[in-house]
Amino acid sequence: MSKIDPSRYGRNTRAVRAGQVRSAEGEHSELIFASSSFIFENAAQAAARFKGEIPGNIYSRFTNPTVRTFEERLAAMEGGERCVATSSGMSAILSTCLGLLRGGDHIVSSRSIFGTTVNLFNNILSKFGLETTFVELTDYGAWEAAIKPETKLLFLETPSNPLTAVADIQRLADLAHAHGCQLVVDNCFCTPVLQLPFELGADIVIHSATKYLDGQGRCVGGAVIGGEKRLEDVFGFLRTAGPTMSPFNAWVFLKGLETLAVRMRAHCVNAMKIADWLQHQPKVETVYYPGLKSHPQHELAGRQQSGYGGIVSFVVKGGQANAWKLIDATRLYSITANLGDTKSTITHPATTTHHRLSDEQRADAGITDGLIRISAGLENTEDLLNDLAIGLSAA
Ligand SMILES: *Cc1c(COP(=O)(O)O)cnc(C)c1O
Repeated sequence: MSKIDPSRYGRNTRAVRAGQVRSAEGEHSELIFASSSFIFENAAQAAARFKGEIPGNIYSRFTNPTVRTFEERLAAMEGGERCVATSSGMSAILSTCLGLLRGGDHIVSSRSIFGTTVNLFNNILSKFGLETTFVELTDYGAWEAAIKPETKLLFLETPSNPLTAVADIQRLADLAHAHGCQLVVDNCFCTPVLQLPFELGADIVIHSATKYLDGQGRCVGGAVIGGEKRLEDVFGFLRTAGPTMSPFNAWVFLKGLETLAVRMRAHCVNAMKIADWLQHQPKVETVYYPGLKSHPQHELAGRQQSGYGGIVSFVVKGGQANAWKLIDATRLYSITANLGDTKSTITHPATTTHHRLSDEQRADAGITDGLIRISAGLENTEDLLNDLAIGLSAA
């Protein structure tokens, strides 16, 4: 069966059908091509494939049919020309930087990004002459002031982790383009179901597929999506350096994409109810959730996203001691730094995901000792609220 043309269909249809090619067996679900290499009909065909004169698979470090189906499906969902799948979210960011940049280039990044990405920029890429300047996500003047002649990439996540600050993607894309730079958006928190960065001018979209795309805690993986020409350089790095996605993981992520839209909507419903409930609890000082009217970028989030997301953070009175008591008293929430799962998770950022920051950096970033982050899962809302009530009564 030949592939569908995703541009003729809506996004839910793309999520379940894009990229699939059926074999002669007529299988309904996608196949896992567990094959490291591929054979040629004859020596001349092998030569032509290696020269790139005819398309086709050679070796699974370069291309694999199951991985390609995942790439085509995710590209269709994001509305990007091409996607390359990677072994993790971090290798997606690494491949983007090493594929597109050279020594001496400069990155301007939001400082409210995934901790390991900060580490990659600060301690790994810096060894190869790639410097990064970090700025406050929503301080557009600071973004502009940080751009130098050597700047090639602007990098951000929105909403931010863990305080859910929302940045105006279109505004930052315009700023990037005015200075000859490219805008890279890590779309992990929203996924294409809630936010489409390409429609807002972004040049590259990055995913940790480990989070919502799988959404069921099974596999680590990532992806880079963008224009054909830019992605050729990212792919060039990837096929040489080798952090490619395994066909099994690609198959798991394909199944994840098929249910992503219904899961994201349900995550949003639970997160909204948790945020609303928390803001009425006397032991809670502040609640951070873009869906609340009190959120400073509530209006922007409503315009830029088609849902407010599954991540809620809040500050419990009484600092770390009470935050830990609350976390330890809950029975349902998984105590883990992971997020984006069907199972709700609870995290104390100051002592886990953000423990490497100095006290001053943490204070600067608003990561206080009483801060708790929740990733709302798909359990019954009542059960999630009751469990938080038990936690709060212990705090
Ligand atoms: C988890 C995460 C990453 C890194 O992804 P891995 O799959 O763990 O390598 C990057 N960005 C964000 C926003 C994340 O949450």
